[in-house]
Amino acid sequence: MQKSIERIAGESEGVSYEFPLFRFTGSDKAAPSAYLQAALHAGELPGVVAIDALMPMLNKAEAEGRIKGNLTIVPWANPIGRAQYHFGEHQGRFHLGTRTNFNRGFPLLAAPDTALLPDTTLGSVDQRLKTRLVQLSLGHDIVLDLHCDDEGLAYLYVHTSLWPGMADCAAAMGVDAVVLWSEDTDGTFEGASIMPYQNVPADVAKLDRRVATTVEYRGILDVDGALAAADADGLYRLLVARGVIADSALPAPGPFTGFVAPLENIDMMPAPRAGAVLYDVKPGDRVAKGARLATIVHAPGEADGRTEVFAPQDGIILTRRSRRIIRAGEDLLKLVGDRKSTDARSGTLED
Ligand SMILES: [Zn+2]
Repeated sequence: MQKSIERIAGESEGVSYEFPLFRFTGSDKAAPSAYLQAALHAGELPGVVAIDALMPMLNKAEAEGRIKGNLTIVPWANPIGRAQYHFGEHQGRFHLGTRTNFNRGFPLLAAPDTALLPDTTLGSVDQRLKTRLVQLSLGHDIVLDLHCDDEGLAYLYVHTSLWPGMADCAAAMGVDAVVLWSEDTDGTFEGASIMPYQNVPADVAKLDRRVATTVEYRGILDVDGALAAADADGLYRLLVARGVIADSALPAPGPFTGFVAPLENIDMMPAPRAGAVLYDVKPGDRVAKGARLATIVHAPGEADGRTEVFAPQDGIILTRRSRRIIRAGEDLLKLVGDRKSTDARSGTLED
């Protein structure tokens, strides 16, 4: 294993950002390669501790000569967001300098060729970071971007061109759900990892062996040793199932038993009023149309001071907020409906 330090130039003299990169060299040039990164939204740490738990397994595999494909690991992909504190609170989702989401604005290349990447020498520092992450990851057969939600199940976003081909990966990781998407107009990292393969010849795209996914490892507070160990096992099983690592002791993953839904089925459920949220449901709950999802206490102690929110259709609760204060129009939860949502915002990847 080789460790190196990546440096991203800041926007003034004397300022730069660093993050470590780990590389394992595979013994078989024909084997698939894998790229794993965590904490692109810098405060989302379940993936960081999963990688921490995975590294000893990779080191052991390397010592035993079982690493077949090249592996590139970036445990903490966003040193800019990692350092952002605003009035004492960590802010790792948006770049404070440009107000841009760290998981938007990635270059969506027409083909998997890093020569097509824009020159960001004179761009903003977050653009330089994004360009570098695409440069590091592009060309790997397997690209995993480890995130988490606010409170939620473990689930994957997967582009429709990779499904059901990636069902073995979802089974290996043991996630609860898969959400399928087809359009990316905002430039997510996942979009930057799969869109370049959509309009190239099949022998270049190799969609049958390609993996690209945003992994949502439950909620922001689910940073826990036992979960990290279980998630590391899941990542390891995926790498073995896809032939990046050899491990004859490990059985092939069984069928995926979680649920799969198109993004169009997600109801985001905006809050009709501002106030304190009392939830009736939690992630994983199955609800029927008309069931009460939450009550918003907007005028405490007053008649008509509460507003109830009901399920627009049958479905499963995928996520909800971790904080209980809400403004009108903010999303209360994600409901994965059995049918297409009437919510106009659905359709693009929502991490
Ligand atoms: Zn995220």
